[in-house]
Amino acid sequence: MTPEELQRRLQAFVGREAGPPQAARDPVNAPMIRHWCDAVDDRNPVYTDPEFAEKSLHQGLVAPPTMLQAWVMPGLRPPGAEAPGAGAMRSVLALLDEAGFTSVVATNCRQEYVRYLHPGDEVSVASEIESISEEKRTALGAGHFVTQRMTFRDRDGETLATMRFRILKFRPPDREAGDEPSATPPPEASSDTAPAPRRGRPRAARTRDSAFFWEGLERGALLIQRCASCGRLQHPPGPMCPVCHALEWDTLEACGRGHVYSYVVAHHPPIPPFAVPNLIALIELEEGTRLVSNLVGVDPAEVEIGMPVQLEITQVEPDLKLPLFRPARSS
Ligand code: ZN
Repeated sequence: MTPEELQRRLQAFVGREAGPPQAARDPVNAPMIRHWCDAVDDRNPVYTDPEFAEKSLHQGLVAPPTMLQAWVMPGLRPPGAEAPGAGAMRSVLALLDEAGFTSVVATNCRQEYVRYLHPGDEVSVASEIESISEEKRTALGAGHFVTQRMTFRDRDGETLATMRFRILKFRPPDREAGDEPSATPPPEASSDTAPAPRRGRPRAARTRDSAFFWEGLERGALLIQRCASCGRLQHPPGPMCPVCHALEWDTLEACGRGHVYSYVVAHHPPIPPFAVPNLIALIELEEGTRLVSNLVGVDPAEVEIGMPVQLEITQVEPDLKLPLFRPARSS
């Protein structure tokens, strides 16, 4: 297939609604909102406290806008249903696979909210392939950006929100004979360019608020930010205490003991330099704060929530120390 023919076949999918709108399984409802707020620890009472919400400018409970997609999730074991627009997307992906663009990475997702959702709102979603770029050179390899647009509407057909989800479908470098990915990142990190090449682990931004964390690791200490006024610990670090709003803070050195609060095992996509399976854990430190880390010295199948772990500050790259954790020896 020539690039021109591929482009022609791809463009045939652009702008077409992918099937009829799909209705949410349930109307917007307070229990789902409450569970979602619990899960992400959002304590804004306008989402969960009817009395407070009544007196707010919303004059009643509203759903967190970022919960948008939760309303139309088809569920884990839907009886024959699939995500809206999945059919058209699958055809596009198959076409790109066939042309050698076999790898995929999600690049960005943008949601725009028109109005707040209230309990009782009946949401439906329609999906279309909004655009497919021509072939672009990116740091990951040559590829096409595919943007899917989902439009969320209420029962009267009024638009509630839109979501644009963009992926890059690219040809993995080892398939391009003698064609290494560019070592220099694209000139401008716009939404049309791929993430910078990752030879090593991506580096976290160091700001005035977070520099102490990295400096602590350099000398072998895992430090937690502590409010100098009320003593509250917080991680990730920030400029202000979320409780008493003080701007002064110091640090506390973690003792290194903790437990697995939650974890995931990533198998795909295999993006260097991470090895798969990649055991990513949310560790709750004995001091009470949590941080995302990797577990070492344990088979992913053996990990359990609540498992006691011990800090192991590790030189993972010549210029990078990270706080990793391994199961604590029972003594
Ligand atoms: Zn404080």
